[in-house]
Amino acid sequence: MNFIDLPKIELHCHLDGSLRPETIVDIAKKESIIIPSYNIDDIREKTVIPLECKSLNEYLKAFSIPNLVMQSRESLRRITYELFEDAAKENVKYMEVRFAPVLHTAKGLEIGEIIESVIDGIREAEEKYDIKGNLILSCMRNMSSNKALEVIEKGKEFLGKGVVAIDLCAAEEEGFCKKFVEPIALAREYGYRVTIHAGETGIGKNVLEAVELLGAERIGHGIFIKDCVEAYEVVKERNIILEMCPTSNLQTKAVNSYNEHPIYNFYKDGIKVTVNTDNRSVSDTSMSRELKIVSEEFNITYEDYKNIYYTSIEASFTDLATKEALKKLI
Ligand SMILES: [Zn+2]
Repeated sequence: MNFIDLPKIELHCHLDGSLRPETIVDIAKKESIIIPSYNIDDIREKTVIPLECKSLNEYLKAFSIPNLVMQSRESLRRITYELFEDAAKENVKYMEVRFAPVLHTAKGLEIGEIIESVIDGIREAEEKYDIKGNLILSCMRNMSSNKALEVIEKGKEFLGKGVVAIDLCAAEEEGFCKKFVEPIALAREYGYRVTIHAGETGIGKNVLEAVELLGAERIGHGIFIKDCVEAYEVVKERNIILEMCPTSNLQTKAVNSYNEHPIYNFYKDGIKVTVNTDNRSVSDTSMSRELKIVSEEFNITYEDYKNIYYTSIEASFTDLATKEALKKLI
């Protein structure tokens, strides 16, 4: 299968993990921002994590440099536009990008204008390329629930106008869901859809709680339901969709090799799985690359790919018209 030519859908991609190194250097120069080096190769080396990475916490360190150049309206617009441009060039037809607005207030931007700038970048790419997109607002689970509440309140006016869902991300601790029950319940009431990072680093029970306490419809990663029967059953019975990211999962040592990744066993057992990049630059990958890896490791057929593509449509938080259009592409 030629994965570059096939239409693709991406549901789990972080904006701040998907910057071109050239752009990091260019913005730093234009906005007089101090970064550790102005050499593109140096920046690439510092922001791309090797497969030999030891943990999620080590992986997350690669986000500090990109964050420095994501503090103005123009840089946020440009970075978003370029991400969609890169995706469109490998035939991604629909993409949900996520980012945490609270990380972009260092130079005084308001949450509302941060969200607006990112939506501007999406719209600009939609005009130029054959791709559509929406935004998922991530809340940092290592921050207070009031911070999450603030994002939910400020993002509300963009619901249906570029923003579709809420997410919790960052380092994963056992039982993190309890702290966010109230803000996420309010988000659901406002009309946000819910996807939660859980079961990424060894704690399958977090997936169970994300579904039961937070009403998650989709789970970011969810690898460790394999070791938690209750979580596995809930995901399977309620058709919760797993957003899986093979290379990222190998880097964070959720798995020790591609072949050990549970995606194919889950799929064969009727669990709804999707394939995603997580972070295009930090993981040095693309949708075509992730699909090729899955295809080579597990010998998936074109029919399998179609099933995954349809699952991605079903799981997406977009409108019915876009879903119908995506169905016709394959
Ligand atoms: Zn993620």
